[in-house]
Amino acid sequence: DSRDAQNQHHFIDEKLDNELAALAKSTRSASSLADLKNQVSSHMTLLVSMLNEKRSLIEENNQKLITDLAKAQARIAELERSAESYKDKLNQQRSKSLQDPLTRLPNRAAFDERLMLEFNRWQRYGTPLAIAIADIDNFKAINDTYGHIAGDKTLQVISSMLKKSLRATDFVARYGGEEFVILLPQTEASSLAEPLQNTKNKIQAIPFKFKDNDIRITISIGAAVYSGNDAIKSAFERADKALYIAKQDGRNKVVIDNKKR
Ligand code: GH3
Ligand code: MG
Ligand code: MG
Repeated sequence: DSRDAQNQHHFIDEKLDNELAALAKSTRSASSLADLKNQVSSHMTLLVSMLNEKRSLIEENNQKLITDLAKAQARIAELERSAESYKDKLNQQRSKSLQDPLTRLPNRAAFDERLMLEFNRWQRYGTPLAIAIADIDNFKAINDTYGHIAGDKTLQVISSMLKKSLRATDFVARYGGEEFVILLPQTEASSLAEPLQNTKNKIQAIPFKFKDNDIRITISIGAAVYSGNDAIKSAFERADKALYIAKQDGRNKVVIDNKKR
């Protein structure tokens, strides 16, 4: 559009130049004052109409620029809005991909991400870090006796109790099936048993009722703290072994790994 307008300006300018040259020529060749007046007047009329043409061309271009600019601004605003909505959608997708749909707890992928973060913090700054694995006792029997839906409901109730009974800074994730994993930052070995015992007791105290039967459900917990030159998996594996011992020892127990390192 700009190039078109430029061409049009060029064209008018050429006509103006020609007209001015013609005016000069006829001024030189005029034989009388009356003739001169006549010549000047007709050239002037033409010049004025050309200048008017040029002016309206400029105005037209300005108007066009203004509307084009407004259109461009509206388009930018629209693009910004859709970029925002894509950003929202991406965030939603991201949190969905990190959340277990049944219990709404962070899932295993979210746990892996968080463990990496806390592990790096422990390594760099030496801030205490504990890890616990909780597993529902004899959960298969709940499913087998009362059905899968009762099992799912149980998982939801236990999940929310786990979250509720721990500190806001602790991180609880559903690791898979009926297993949960808990990260407890700023927790030394000596202060690990208390919150975990407390959580275990709270879960045991939940009154479940399936098919008119009052049921108590328990969990076993194995836990360990990061220490020495632990690798990221080490404390997790010790917690898993401690959980195994809790199960062997009759379930409904908290076992803290106390291996010397
Ligand atoms: P233990 O005390 O040794 O842990 O015994 P358990 O029965 O809890 O362990 P086991 O590994 O034998 O069984 C786990 C059960 O958890 C089996 C499976 O059907 C059930 N389960 C896992 N995920 C889900 C789920 O999403 N919903 C339901 N309803 N059940 C689940
Ligand atoms: Mg189990
Ligand atoms: Mg299990």
